[in-house]
Amino acid sequence: MILFENVRLLSFNPPAVSEEMDLAAYETDEGGEKAGTIAAIGKNLAAVYPKATRAGQGGYLSPGLVCSHTHLYSALARGMEVAIKPSKDFAQQLKHLWWRLDRAIDTPILEASALAGCADALSAGVTSLVDHHAGPECIEGSLSVIREAYEKVGIRGLLCYETTDRNGMEQARLGVQENIRFAKEIDAMRKAGKRPLVDAAIGGHAGFTVGDATLEALADAVRETGRGIHIHLAEDKYDAVDSRHRFGLDLIERMDRAGVLNPKSIIGHGVWLTPSEVEIMNERDVFLAHNARSNMNNAVGYNALLTSHKNVVLGTDGMGADMLEEFKFAVFRHRESQGPWWPDNFLVCLDRGNRILERYFDGNFSNSTTEGFAFGKLAVGAPADLVLWDYDPPTPVSASNIAGHLAFGMSSRSVRTVAVAGQLRIKDRTPLFDAEKIQAYAREQARRLWKNMEGR
Ligand SMILES: [Zn+2]
Repeated sequence: MILFENVRLLSFNPPAVSEEMDLAAYETDEGGEKAGTIAAIGKNLAAVYPKATRAGQGGYLSPGLVCSHTHLYSALARGMEVAIKPSKDFAQQLKHLWWRLDRAIDTPILEASALAGCADALSAGVTSLVDHHAGPECIEGSLSVIREAYEKVGIRGLLCYETTDRNGMEQARLGVQENIRFAKEIDAMRKAGKRPLVDAAIGGHAGFTVGDATLEALADAVRETGRGIHIHLAEDKYDAVDSRHRFGLDLIERMDRAGVLNPKSIIGHGVWLTPSEVEIMNERDVFLAHNARSNMNNAVGYNALLTSHKNVVLGTDGMGADMLEEFKFAVFRHRESQGPWWPDNFLVCLDRGNRILERYFDGNFSNSTTEGFAFGKLAVGAPADLVLWDYDPPTPVSASNIAGHLAFGMSSRSVRTVAVAGQLRIKDRTPLFDAEKIQAYAREQARRLWKNMEGR
């Protein structure tokens, strides 16, 4: 049992701030079916749970943040010292940089980037990461390597392998297979009574690198595993034009005809989708992962239809995992575009990442008798993914101005303590995993990665 005392509960959905109270949670290996969930909320819980580990006093306690689209393999790209040819457009950026990088990934590089990315996320108060992995020279087993990194650092999330035709059809087949293999690995763990921190999605790279044969194989994988597709669509205008040119269909139409759109599907970017495509996505209850900073960095344009989507979630697209920073960029870029949304609307998007988790992780809790199963809630029975913030603002915090505090005040420097599934991962700003070792290993593998990229 872990116990937070005299904390103000900061809820995002709906926004609320409580008086000072206590919150107790079951750790991962206690409480039977209630393991890893919130056990009690109230006053003087120390008297009820005298043996509980004291997790922290004072400050604000919120649900952990969710990053709904990232690429951990890019964790070692920071400050890269590799000669990269200048690119005239987005397709060239992929060719000159990212496809050289992903081909240079081997197992130690993969492991190091996953560990470093997960550690970085936790230190920013992010307790769940939805990853989209590429590494065409070591596909088989790659998702299990990433899963081990998640478990080692102690973070929750969703993994997939981004299947693509760009390295030939044999590698496309291996990509589909890795997604299915990994989904079955998770199913087997659940069947054995375990509650893995990680679940599987079915990954595809992008419309323009997934031909019809591969798309059909991905659709079969979606049906076979009961998961959703996680794919980039219309990140750049090129993708949208290519789909109409080569297949005579809008990207979303093409996906829908293949049968891959369901409530577990995540579409990355969607900057150049059209109103009729957004309508189909909304009908299928599909998530749109908006990555404001990445879109700015790649100069792919601004998503003018953002506000017409039913299920916008926020991701970093591999630019770290600081979701408060990402939230701010999403807000300010939108303000600059003269759009109608306010920080409150983006807080709804930030919280909505929890709906992805609910749609995937219900299998972890299906035997649970606890009420109120929902991610992102501070309620008894909800998964205990929690962040304690040191935040002492110069203005009052209330239900109606939380989004304003997030946009203009709070940042990851306020993160004091983090728990995932009731297990403390960072306590009083000290990681309970070996952060120094992870970073040293990452720097060593980063040098190897950059060297591997030369000549590719
Ligand atoms: Zn992406």
